[in-house]
Amino acid sequence: MREVYMDYSATTPVKAEVMAEMLPYFTMKFGNPSSLYGPGFEARDGVEAARHNVAHLIGAADKEVYFTSCGTEADDWALKGVAELKKAKGKHIITTKIEHHAILHTCEYLEKQGYEVTYLGVDAEGQISLEELENAIRPDTILVSIMFANNEMGAILPIKEAAAIAHKHDVLFHTDAVQALSNVPIDVKDLDVDLMSISGHKIYAPKGIGALYIRKGLVLPNLLHGGAQESKRRAGTENVTGIIGFGKAAQMAEENLDYHIKHITELRDYFIENVQKRISNVRVNGGMEHRLPGNVNMIFDFIEGEALLGYLDMQGIYISTGSACSSGSFAPSHVLAAMGLPPEKIYSSLRFSIGDFTTKADLDYVVDCLERTVQTLRSFSPFNEEHPMFGTTQVHK
Ligand SMILES: *Cc1c(COP(=O)(O)O)cnc(C)c1O
Repeated sequence: MREVYMDYSATTPVKAEVMAEMLPYFTMKFGNPSSLYGPGFEARDGVEAARHNVAHLIGAADKEVYFTSCGTEADDWALKGVAELKKAKGKHIITTKIEHHAILHTCEYLEKQGYEVTYLGVDAEGQISLEELENAIRPDTILVSIMFANNEMGAILPIKEAAAIAHKHDVLFHTDAVQALSNVPIDVKDLDVDLMSISGHKIYAPKGIGALYIRKGLVLPNLLHGGAQESKRRAGTENVTGIIGFGKAAQMAEENLDYHIKHITELRDYFIENVQKRISNVRVNGGMEHRLPGNVNMIFDFIEGEALLGYLDMQGIYISTGSACSSGSFAPSHVLAAMGLPPEKIYSSLRFSIGDFTTKADLDYVVDCLERTVQTLRSFSPFNEEHPMFGTTQVHK
């Protein structure tokens, strides 16, 4: 059976070149980067070379990149760090309703600690209003945190403009760029952000490695306390192999960025066009203009998304609902809800994400399976207009 992985937004496989770069650091170059002898220096050099590659990909200085255990830790650190740092100034934070749970649940935690959080809404395209952002800023606002690109429906948000508004009011700006990294050109200096979270396993590096960009001069309180690693800012022996992998993946992402964006966008549009040609009552969630190259989030009317996901799984096609449903809690996606979708449309929505190993032949296979499976599921659905007993188009009505 053919297998087609279409969940690159959830995680990516480690590329062979990335793996090859990592391997020596498990065995020969296994030293602790803090050790003051050969193998330690070797590991240290590897870590610093990787830091340079990651920094270069986002336009940062090497010293502004701090490795963390994941994107979630970077998000946590940014929010809790600024909250601690600026608590004398105020306890108000602004974010959006469509953030990843790494941001939303940290905000909920901070709310319990006495902080106040404003959650900006989005329109049907998944875009925030810059005017609403500016109006939300108060004298006690200490941080604006807005994601660069949304993991569920792919909207790319106006980070440069949002950061400018925050700075106009002397407020720090953080962005969760985990989905944007390697899919959108990023230059932290041009964007003028203070803090930015990124992660390795969304760009073909292994799971368990991330980084926080912290603008030079901004001294964020530590999240972890312990050793003097990462310039005394993030304790814990470095995940050397993960860092090496992240560095190689960042280097490859930078080299391929233009081609990657063009190629993946073409595949995405080819997929959407063919799905819409072959299946009726399908719509794309979110706008097409400012959208991640590989993101397709669609509503299949009269279909239970989880059921379709399960049937596709049996045919070797791996996709996601893009929401908390996939983690076992059947709450409808907070992202699609924020875009104004009613629950039945949310439950009929699925996310397909395309990546570097996706081929046109894969997409053709997925469209074939989708067409058949949607037809079958719709024939069971009492809400389907073409249902023999319940539909409005029945001949004996
Ligand atoms: C995956 C993801 C995260 C979390 O990154 P991890 O490295 O998995 O902890 C945070 N934000 C966004 C937008 C993501 O897609």
